[in-house]
Amino acid sequence: MARRPRVVRTVSALRRTVARFRAAHEPIALVPTMGALHAGHLALVRAAQRRADSVIVSIFVNPTQFAPHEDLKTYPQTFAADIAVLAALKTDLIWAPSVETMYPAGFATRIVPEGPATAGLEDAFRPHFFAGVATVVAKLLIQCEPDVAVFGEKDYQQLKVVARLVRDLDLPVKIISVPTVRENDGLAMASRNAYLSESERAVAPVLHRVLADCAGKIAQGALVARVLDEGGAAIERAGFTLDYLEARHAETLKPIETADDGPIRLLVAARIGKTRLIDNVGV
Ligand code: AMP
Repeated sequence: MARRPRVVRTVSALRRTVARFRAAHEPIALVPTMGALHAGHLALVRAAQRRADSVIVSIFVNPTQFAPHEDLKTYPQTFAADIAVLAALKTDLIWAPSVETMYPAGFATRIVPEGPATAGLEDAFRPHFFAGVATVVAKLLIQCEPDVAVFGEKDYQQLKVVARLVRDLDLPVKIISVPTVRENDGLAMASRNAYLSESERAVAPVLHRVLADCAGKIAQGALVARVLDEGGAAIERAGFTLDYLEARHAETLKPIETADDGPIRLLVAARIGKTRLIDNVGV
């Protein structure tokens, strides 16, 4: 059996271990996660291992990025299984702070990002979300002092927010992105897929099918607005409530009208039953 990776739960223990990595002049990579690990997360860990000798995976379900009506209380927690898969991958260190460690009594600082964080995508439906993400990611980067940090394209707007945050705050870390890992039927892997009933799971791949279909049509010169209207209708016909299906500039996330304004990223968010799914593809 693989050796259990070291799990640290206090900032002082984390700092001691990071100092040892640094003393050995080993490049350090950080993979921030909220646990409930799946093959998407593991692709991030492998990408980190290709770029650094020491890989830290953080597991922290960050309460400040959930609104009161959202799923903080039911968010899947599979800590023992997470440790086992990270052991099999020979992860060097797991940073698993408690909420009180991350946000001790009196905690009063928040990073409120703009630019890609106010693009009118996730932020329009989860207004609290990116301040929660930006603050916790800044803390994780300062705590772990990684040379590289790895994020998934699955959360495309988040990836752009983090890249901007790092540039704006002169944080000395390189942000690496990893393409979305999908199930065989195209559904983007996500911890929240565990919420789907059997019948919801059966229709969930429609999201990616529609994205891929829209991307193909736009690439062939079809009118962007019409393609998105038809795509949105197909998603709703399948049983989803659509939050958005948008074509945006892949870097700035600004709205685009024609394929010539690209490179284009298509982004979607839709709800089925109690589950909200997001996905995106390049054109
Ligand atoms: P989470 O635990 O959902 O907060 O995600 C932690 C990291 O894993 C984020 O950088 C996500 O973008 C990334 N991630 C989640 N799902 C996938 C996926 N299917 N493929 C690639 N990366 C993913």
